[in-house]
Amino acid sequence: LITTSYTAYTVYEKYYKNSSKYNDILEDPPKIKLGVDKLIGNTPMVRINSLSKSTSCQIYAKLELNNPAGSAKDRVALNIILTAEKNGQLTRGNPDWVFEGTSGSTGISIAMICNALGYRSHISLPDDTSIEKLSLLESLGAVVNKVKPASIVDPDQYVNAAKKACEKLNNDTTTNSKGIFADQFENEANWKVHFNSTGPEIYKQMNGKIDAFIAGCGTGGTITGVAKYLKEVKGLNNCHVVLADPQGSGFFNRINYGVMYDSLEKEGTRRRHQVDTIIEGIGLNRITRNFNHGEENIDESIRVTDDQAIKMAKFLSVNDGLFVGSSTAINAVAAIKLAKKLPKDSRIVIIACDSGSRHLSKFWKEARAIDRNITLKDILGN
Ligand code: PMP
Repeated sequence: LITTSYTAYTVYEKYYKNSSKYNDILEDPPKIKLGVDKLIGNTPMVRINSLSKSTSCQIYAKLELNNPAGSAKDRVALNIILTAEKNGQLTRGNPDWVFEGTSGSTGISIAMICNALGYRSHISLPDDTSIEKLSLLESLGAVVNKVKPASIVDPDQYVNAAKKACEKLNNDTTTNSKGIFADQFENEANWKVHFNSTGPEIYKQMNGKIDAFIAGCGTGGTITGVAKYLKEVKGLNNCHVVLADPQGSGFFNRINYGVMYDSLEKEGTRRRHQVDTIIEGIGLNRITRNFNHGEENIDESIRVTDDQAIKMAKFLSVNDGLFVGSSTAINAVAAIKLAKKLPKDSRIVIIACDSGSRHLSKFWKEARAIDRNITLKDILGN
């Protein structure tokens, strides 16, 4: 026994005691949290070493992918539910229901948080939603309502289907269960949670020194909420807020030229949420309440092509060990484009909304094929 203990101690002394990894872990151990919902937020900030070394700026990523259901949408789903509880629309354990129409991360966040808080979730989505997301929702026990892809003006489109399913439950006199329609695009609990949590966290982590902030825009909640906090509360008026926009999305023209190119009007048949890009979760051709309330705090939009995003995703993976989803890759491309215009050593923060594991069958199928020797020059094409 003595020999065994001695050996274990020697190994500890030799390999772990003075290793920086060991000391880093012990530096600030997170406290015990009383439930999965309590794990939401307080996400880490990491310097992206490859981009900081290859440009003249320091580039950081706010790792929203570290939230328990894997994206920034955990904050939004939780705040929508807590706000509805405060308004008396939901009661824990009743069992009450949360309805949403989404093909993205919000449904997964809603499903997980509903389970943690004693609610049920009902998610309507188009039947061409990626297999990863569908499997996750089913694993979480959400009721999944698959509908045919359709325009937002079609009553059977997935957002409309969710709203209709919610109304049906609330009109049903045979049950005590009630429901809310989460409505992430129009529900202002969305931008408010980024104003009250994501923004202050970023400010604190960066010690108030942020020269630029970059995010994509789906509902608009993240970019408008964070920008409002940094500029209107903390007075960082010189912090350059950039909306990274995928090809085919209307925000680029809206921010830079004041007009929104509406592909629906031009091409009638296209699904209104759908933009011609492989990137998921961002890009839109209509103005939502969560975007509109705070768009004046966005200074510029930078357009990024699918090809640039795919190459960047591979670059970050092989050079930093950072395995990100498609919208994060867009933000990183926008960061290196912006770095060329900003003074030396400017500090740029990007949102890393979700992980690559949610995009394996589509975006990462393309990104996997990129050569690991890819350079920033190859990404920008100049
Ligand atoms: N990235 C991903 C992967 C998303 O799912 C979303 C939200 N749809 C966003 C970025 C954009 O966030 P927001 O809705 O706050 O604009």
